[in-house]
Amino acid sequence: MAELLPVIQLGNPTLRRKASFVEDIHNERIQKLIDDLMATVAQANGVGIAAPQVAESERLFIVASRPNPRYPNAPEMEPTAMINPKILANSTEVVKGWEGCLSIPGIRSLVPRYQAIEVEYFDRNGKLQKQEFTDFVARIFQHEYDHLDGIVFLDRIESSLDIITEQEYQKLVVNNSKE
Ligand code: ZN
Repeated sequence: MAELLPVIQLGNPTLRRKASFVEDIHNERIQKLIDDLMATVAQANGVGIAAPQVAESERLFIVASRPNPRYPNAPEMEPTAMINPKILANSTEVVKGWEGCLSIPGIRSLVPRYQAIEVEYFDRNGKLQKQEFTDFVARIFQHEYDHLDGIVFLDRIESSLDIITEQEYQKLVVNNSKE
């Protein structure tokens, strides 16, 4: 049975650590961690979660884009575990979009990210996957990838004027959805 894991918050030193490579994907502990992360991100209305956010300093994250109250316009995809991921190439185009983080509650900011990326990662069966992601899913990937290097989205912002509260963000999103 998957368990909900407590999400650590900004200030906890584990969030600032460079995570280690996963050595054995088939290990029972890693497989359970994947199930627990998937349950935790779904319950928290997240679209992604990285292992360091539950105090496991390993290079593994879940991308689970789907519309939910925190991200009403997110595209739908099958939740996917990405292990020892790499960014192989990126677009020259950079776009600013809204991000939040389960480890930094109550805050949203515009964050510049590559519009498209080519990546590889091992899936939970240990198979190497090579994929291209664009727009919102590319954004999630880059956000989660940063967590593996101890970087949070606030480190990437261009101006403190791009930061708003969750409450103001919700007003923006509701207004945009009506258009
Ligand atoms: Zn985050």
